[in-house]
Amino acid sequence: MKLLLHEISVPLLKPFKISRGTVNEQTILIVELQKDGQSGFGEVGENGYYGHSLETMTESILRVTSRVESTCLSSGDAVWEAVNEQLSSDRFALSALDMAAQDLFAKLHGRPCYQEWGLQWTSLPESSFTISIGTPEEMVLQLKEQPGWRIYKIKLGVPDDIEIVRALRLHTDAVLRVDANCAWTVQEAITKSIVLKDLGVEFIEQPLPRESTKEEQELVYRESALPIIADESCCLPRDVERCAGAFHGINVKLCKCGGPTPALAMLKQARSLGLHTMIGCMLETSIGISAAAQLLPLLDYADLDGAILLGNDPAEGVTIDRGVVSLANRPGCGGRLKQ
Ligand SMILES: [Mg+2]
Repeated sequence: MKLLLHEISVPLLKPFKISRGTVNEQTILIVELQKDGQSGFGEVGENGYYGHSLETMTESILRVTSRVESTCLSSGDAVWEAVNEQLSSDRFALSALDMAAQDLFAKLHGRPCYQEWGLQWTSLPESSFTISIGTPEEMVLQLKEQPGWRIYKIKLGVPDDIEIVRALRLHTDAVLRVDANCAWTVQEAITKSIVLKDLGVEFIEQPLPRESTKEEQELVYRESALPIIADESCCLPRDVERCAGAFHGINVKLCKCGGPTPALAMLKQARSLGLHTMIGCMLETSIGISAAAQLLPLLDYADLDGAILLGNDPAEGVTIDRGVVSLANRPGCGGRLKQ
């Protein structure tokens, strides 16, 4: 196998604001694995919150390149198995490698990844579209610019949270979900959940900080009027069990856990524990979105609008039409660089 890296900087369609900052441009590292005339693609983006830069992720991948290139691709998870321990401190880099290897393995077999993973392409949830933080008027404008989605995810974590949801509700009957990105206190989460429920919100994602205690999480879990989904509090496979009894569901992201291989295991474990399952994304191209979309049959909720939020997606793959995900009709995950 041959490993190639491509660095890409993509300006966003418009600045994307959440409770801990604003992003104008996303820097992305694309991993390409070549074998027998086929290319498998994986990707990962820089992320300050999780502490991964282009430099650190490139360094991580270069550290394991010879090992990856000499791996016999006897299964989709062979690369993950080969470098998982060495990359235990850089799940982001591991994710891009695993994604590329799973894509390549399925391509060499002429089958889509979801089939390789034993999944049936049925009972698929629609994706939400994310509205980033702004004034209520700005957020209503974002909603109006993306009409027709059946689910919107609203970024919150500012003093006028409730006013924002009230304003949006006046303009849509769609399902609304909210994501506080760690910005609320226990009391705030409980109090706001009651009002948000009245406004027809379906669930709250990550109200408390990642550092919140199990007791605080359990209190919100018990007292909240709405289901609570863990995002920042659920990164690795070992986090799933801890989330049972402290959250109603988990939001798995490929980069947080280290790729499709652990994501598949986490979603299956979550379902066995009675947790709701969700897949989310970062600001990423259609390569990453196409890989995450292969897991849709295991999901209750999907948030896969990352490529739509980019100004100009340098890749192509699954398409999302107002939430409805369609496969690319190609083997593997279906994502590839344009040209
Ligand atoms: Mg989130």
